[in-house]
Formats: sequence, C-alpha cells, structure tokens
Amino acid sequence: MSPSELPGLTIAELQKILRTREVSPREVIRALHGRIEEIDPQIGAYLSRDLEAALAAADTADVELPLGGIPLAIKDAISVRDQPLTCGSKILGNYRALYDATVVVRLKAAGAIPFGKTNLDEFAMGSSTENSNFHPTRNPWNRDRIPGGSSGGSAAAVAANLAIASLGSDTGGSIRQPAALCGVVGLKPTYGRVSRYGLTAFASSLEGIGPLTKSVRDSALLLQVMAGADPQDSTSLEAPVPDYAAELEIDLRGVRLGLPNEYLRAGIDPEVKVALDAAVAHFSSLGAEIVEISLPHTDYAIDVYYIIATAEASANLARFDGVRYGYRAANPTNLQDHYRRTRAEGFGAEVKRRIILGTYVLSSGYYDEFYLRAQKVRTLVRQDFAAAFEKVDALLSPTSPVPAFKLGERAADPLQMYLADVFTVAANLAGICGISIPCGFAQNAGSLPLPIGLQILCPALGEMRLFQVAHAYEQSTDWHRRRPPL
Ligand code: GLN
Repeated sequence: MSPSELPGLTIAELQKILRTREVSPREVIRALHGRIEEIDPQIGAYLSRDLEAALAAADTADVELPLGGIPLAIKDAISVRDQPLTCGSKILGNYRALYDATVVVRLKAAGAIPFGKTNLDEFAMGSSTENSNFHPTRNPWNRDRIPGGSSGGSAAAVAANLAIASLGSDTGGSIRQPAALCGVVGLKPTYGRVSRYGLTAFASSLEGIGPLTKSVRDSALLLQVMAGADPQDSTSLEAPVPDYAAELEIDLRGVRLGLPNEYLRAGIDPEVKVALDAAVAHFSSLGAEIVEISLPHTDYAIDVYYIIATAEASANLARFDGVRYGYRAANPTNLQDHYRRTRAEGFGAEVKRRIILGTYVLSSGYYDEFYLRAQKVRTLVRQDFAAAFEKVDALLSPTSPVPAFKLGERAADPLQMYLADVFTVAANLAGICGISIPCGFAQNAGSLPLPIGLQILCPALGEMRLFQVAHAYEQSTDWHRRRPPL
C-alpha cells in the first residue's frame, strides 16, 4: 500500500496491516503528517501537533495491543499530557496539560498514539467552530461552509482523511452534529459511560467524550477502550463494558424503530427530509418495524438546554481567573482590576454571553423561574424518552435540521445558531446514548454536495443496540465510504 493511502484507512483496516508488519506505526504517523501539512492549510482542523512525541510513541508501539500504533486526533478540550490545551480560547494562554485525561490514559495503554489537537468553538460553546479564538475550521466538502461544532476540527479531520479517527465532546450535540455535517460517524455515549476526567468542564451534567470515526465498527473499537468506571469521575458508571465490536451483526427483523412526530414538524430542510424518508424506507426493507411515537416535550428542549448549560458554564468557568495559569491581563491596578480585565480580554463574545445568561438564571429572584423550572422540564424530557423506549428499541431522526450552512451565515445571530441543536440536545438532557451516521447528500442547488446525518438514539447503556442498528444500515449502504475531493 502506498503511504498516501494510509490516512484514508479505518482503524480496523490499519490494525490489519500494522499487525502483518506491512507498515510500521512510524510510517503511518509520517504519512498523516505529510497529508496534514499539505491539506490542512485549506481546512484548519488542527490547532497543534507534536510530531516528535508521536514518532517516539510510534517507535515503541506494540501493534498486538487492541489499538497498537493507531494515531488519534484529540479535541483541544481534552488533556493530553505535555501538549497544549487551549479549549479554543485565549484565556488558557500557552497552558500545557499536566496530566492525561482518563480516556487518553486508557487509549495510550491500548497502544493508541495521540497525534494532534483539533479546533473547536471556544470551551465547546457553539455549533460551527466559528467561535474558536484561533481560526474557523472549514467543511472539507465545501470550504465556504462550516463543519459544524463544537468538535468541528475533529469531524473535519476524519472526513478529510487528516486523521484515522478522533475524539470529541458532546454537551448538546457537539459530536453528532459536526459528524453529520462532515459525513462521518459520531457517537455520544450514555452519560457516565466514559469518564469526563481531563475534559475541560462546560456543562458537567450534560456532557461526555466520544469518538468520531469513518465507520461504526471503529466507533465500537474505541468505545470499548474508553468506557468504564473511573475513580476520578464520580459520575462514571460501574456497569460492565460489553465487547461492542464482537456483536455488531444482527438481523433487524423484529427490531422496532421509532419516529418522533414532533421532530418531523420542526422545520426540516427538504433535502434532509428526503434523506430521512429514504433511510426509514431502507430500515423497513431490512425488516425493522417502523413505529410513530411522540416525545411531547420536544419543543422545550432547546430552552431547557440553554438554561441548564449556561448555568453550569457560569460556575465551571469561574476558575479561569488568571491567577494560577493561563492568560493574565498586563499591569493590574488591584485584584478586582486583575479579574475584570483578565476575563474581559481572555474570553470571546459567546463565552461571555453564556456566563452572563448563566449567572442571570441562577441569581436570586430568577432561580425559581428559570433554573429550577428548567430542571423540572428536564425530568419531563427524560420521561418522554423512557415512555418511548417502552415501545421501541431505538429512535430515528435527522441529526441536524439543515446541511452545513455558510461560514458567517449564523454567526451574528446566536438564536439561529442555537436552533441548529434542536434534535441533539434532548439526548444530553436525558443522559441517553446517540450516534450520527452518514445517510445521504444534499445536492445543494447544483453547488458541491453536502453530507446529511441520521441520528439514532437508544436508552442509557444501550450502546450495543445502537451500534447494531447503525452498523446494519451502514453495511447495506455506501454513504460512509464517500470522501470529499481534496
Ligand atoms: N451547540 C451546543 C452549544 O453551543 C452544543 C455544544 C456542545 O455539545 N459542546 O452549547
């Protein structure tokens, strides 16, 4: 195999040729590095890369380990020891992580090689990767379009064959939505399935780390290693980790898939609707039973999410004060001035908007009206899913109501940006698992085609079933094999 083909491989494909010694881990890192140097200036998926560290790890990699010699790009909100950790923000200055996130510890122990930190919306707040303090990331399918967000760098890197696979984080859709918009597979695991230790906290009760990959099998292979209880994260779950990749193949006959009525009414782009209908018809041809169901509190999900997420963000981001690490304003006149200017200069506009909104919904007098009420509605959203999963095994919807929009198109209108999350945030409120897989293309009025993602949701700890349903669809279609012409 020629080195130029290596970056396009899946984990499963790369594992095989590493184990037969057809290629070495060093050659893989070299090939990726070469392609990133050549292509990434047009995409902007990466914020930093440490070639020397990756080559050193490659030289000692044991290819017999589960992920031996497999390079992984990591969203720059996840700690990789000795590497920069910017969170896409100015306020972290030139901070370098002092320790590995638990997922990174586990992936390294399984032989994987972290290679490159990927771009994101500042502190993972956004749906387009335009809120990065450094540069926007472009959609590899059409560089005038956004890649989605906030894990836009991780999604674009995989789609453009600038990574074998990557890690992202999903607080309200930040893995699934960019996966959909870039045409890759993005998994949001069940809340607590994967340790959050080492993920910079934005909204702790909603978020988690998950993989972005070229196939469902790769997603299963990564979750296998990443999942499991962690004493460093008290919200991580004790439940045993099944062998996800071993049981991917199932017969869909008798599997019940639900279509939430409310989602179909929510203003979906016509081409997205066509792709969804085709996916539903395809599942039905595979023998699945399609059932219409209702999630009555859908209309409240965005409002509830943006109250709870901002409330938690306002508390989590209080730690960035320029005292112990990160950016510090010059020549403060006193402590107040130090805090005020460090935060005013260090945070971008969207982060400030959320801190202010979050502080407001938690303030005395408004707490009951906003925060407390949002928590009650969150319970109703969770109950909607519980009731739905009594009737069906999984739910289907578009991941995003629209294909990738133009850079700058929604940047000035936060509300429009928030609406991009209409199908993804409810899963975070409920703590269930979800995946986005490629299911078609929007022809985009004769311009370059843009990928469309299908979201599949399963109950908490239902990742095995989620993978099986996604894999059955993927293996009988070829959307996931398409790559942008770069
Ligand atoms: N787009 C959503 C937001 O801006 C979700 C972000 C995320 O999942 N990190 O909050």
